[in-house]
Amino acid sequence: MKIAIVGMGASGASLASFLSAKEELEISIFEPALSRKNHLWGFWDDGSPAFEAARHCRQHSWDSLAFVHGEQRRQVDVPQSPYSVVNSRDFIQSCEKNLRDSTKIIRESVISLSENPREAIVKTREREEGFDLVFDSRPPMFPTNTLQQHFLGRWVEMPSPVFDPETATLMDFRPRPEEPFHFIYVLPISRTRALIESTCYSPATREENWYRRRIHDYLQEWGEGYEILEEESGQIPLHSGSSSQGERIKSIGLRSGTLRASSGYAFAQNLIQSQKIAEQVFDSVDLCIPDSCLPMEKWMDEVMLRLIRQRPQQAIEAMMAVPGALDGLDFTEFMTGHSKARTRWSLIWGLPKAPMISAALGWQ
Ligand SMILES: Cc1cc2nc3c(=O)[nH]c(=O)nc-3n(C[C@H](O)[C@H](O)[C@H](O)COP(=O)(O)OP(=O)(O)OC[C@H]3O[C@@H](n4cnc5c(N)ncnc54)[C@H](O)[C@@H]3O)c2cc1C
Repeated sequence: MKIAIVGMGASGASLASFLSAKEELEISIFEPALSRKNHLWGFWDDGSPAFEAARHCRQHSWDSLAFVHGEQRRQVDVPQSPYSVVNSRDFIQSCEKNLRDSTKIIRESVISLSENPREAIVKTREREEGFDLVFDSRPPMFPTNTLQQHFLGRWVEMPSPVFDPETATLMDFRPRPEEPFHFIYVLPISRTRALIESTCYSPATREENWYRRRIHDYLQEWGEGYEILEEESGQIPLHSGSSSQGERIKSIGLRSGTLRASSGYAFAQNLIQSQKIAEQVFDSVDLCIPDSCLPMEKWMDEVMLRLIRQRPQQAIEAMMAVPGALDGLDFTEFMTGHSKARTRWSLIWGLPKAPMISAALGWQ
């Protein structure tokens, strides 16, 4: 079978890696970018075989997660599914190592895809080629004014030990008049070294110095004089919509709606999806691209997003209530998109009722 994968990001690279287990498959990957912007991908490692390639290049992991807002501090312990991070370039390289020698990596940009009953056709400026199946991971289009998670992070080295390398701070809320849903994300990999990220949820990004000032303000609380080692930045449109699927052309990754819209997580979902797709290809069954989370989880993400947009202060209170409502296992299952019904009800029950109900009903 002749298969094309369009895009070699998280989902394309992981799918190619899983499919490489079968010798008979003839795989071509279309990826125009010679290198990609480096950044971290965080996920909860529950031991699933889908995370094998990520586990090989894991940079660090944490058993405890903190949520902070002023004097309030909540902690959730996740020793059974530690929060783990991989470097995006290391991960792609780790997947590339699994590819067969026969796999073609074609450094061309796909300009169109079409299909007929016999084949799917991939067109670039240089070629037009037919395949039995095409998996398309090109970034999707989003409606204008979509809420975005936008951030800039700095790896810093402190002059003295101040961090706890066992605990990742997922959200330390620092609302600002101009960015009411703003928080600092802290990933310490030693007592002195950490990634400190200034993150906002709003429709438009800020100039880079805005985030740098927030990081500086945060670090001032830990002492004077730090060294900046590296910087990373990005933006994630918070939209979980999925695109349509053809018979032979299938969307994967963010394009297929793997993003958890209220948190910006998609990495674990992409890997799980890739593994399930590979199993279907091996079993020669009719392909059905698996959903990345349950419909109820998707709905809960949408309600939370609406609250963030309409009442950011109350959304912060709701986020701070999550660690109290769920234990570590329930929390990681919810974040990875396979929570139990009991967990979802505990979460609904544990969140502030009035704002969540008005957000659910779409009241302004
Ligand atoms: C900076 C950043 C940090 C993130 N951090 C996390 C995180 O910590 N945890 C988490 O769970 N999620 C995170 N996400 C969200 C999500 O996991 C990533 O966006 C992830 O990369 C999505 O995977 P993907 O394969 O769908 O898309 P991508 O990884 O973006 O891959 C798409 C690929 O398609 C290629 N492409 C584009 N156009 C064409 C074309 N015309 N022809 C051929 N190829 C093309 C691109 O070059 C790219 O390589 C982050 C996103 C960003 C942007």
